Amino acid sequence: MNDSLQKRYDELQNAIQNTLHSFNNDQRSVNLIAVSKTFPADDIKILYDLGHRDFGENYIQEWIGKYQSLPEDIIWHIIGDIQSNKTRIVAENADWVHTLSRIKIAERLSEARPSHLPKLNVCIEVNISGETQKHGIHPDELIDFAKHVQNLPQLNLRGLMCITANADEITVRNQMQAMQNLFNNMINNGFNLDTLSMGMSNDWKFAIEYGATHIRVGSALFGSRK
Ligand SMILES: *Cc1c(COP(=O)(O)O)cnc(C)c1O
Repeated sequence: MNDSLQKRYDELQNAIQNTLHSFNNDQRSVNLIAVSKTFPADDIKILYDLGHRDFGENYIQEWIGKYQSLPEDIIWHIIGDIQSNKTRIVAENADWVHTLSRIKIAERLSEARPSHLPKLNVCIEVNISGETQKHGIHPDELIDFAKHVQNLPQLNLRGLMCITANADEITVRNQMQAMQNLFNNMINNGFNLDTLSMGMSNDWKFAIEYGATHIRVGSALFGSRK
């Protein structure tokens, strides 16, 4: 088990480097977020001992049980929906929230972020596929929402995040291209962004092609979820 997790990790890191190389992008770095939802703290510790620090979790209750037993220098990325009653625990213990899409939640996170900690890094989730069951801000509302987030004192707006549709390659590529355009458009509008969080086990290679700075990979590392 452990051998294979280590092996998949090494292979994924090599594949990321090869992908960057194939786009003549060796200087660029892509941050791998290991998405550990539903997998035990022991699996996180295996990657931690290999030097990995960035982990992503979706379910706050499950995450609480894990972070308390794991080293403090892990960088925790919350990538799931956050309910109002969970904003404090997230503000006090996470390093990143990738899934900001409601003003009320953004305000509560800012209010609850302790002043002795660095500002909470946040990305705005964009509903790029337009699917009604998906969370996220409509692209037309992005600038207004981002302005509001920027005014919250304890949040550091870093960029955009999306979950593309589970669809054919052309559709996925179109959505990633649209995200890259939105991202560049915001930078041209004066937003100081450095993070484009997109790409999962099945489509991270495309994401790198369209400028992702952070890819979020779960099952390709830890195995399939029950
Ligand atoms: C579960 C999840 C991932 C990882 O998905 P895999 O397909 O297992 O790599 C990435 N991002 C988000 C938002 C997720 O919920």
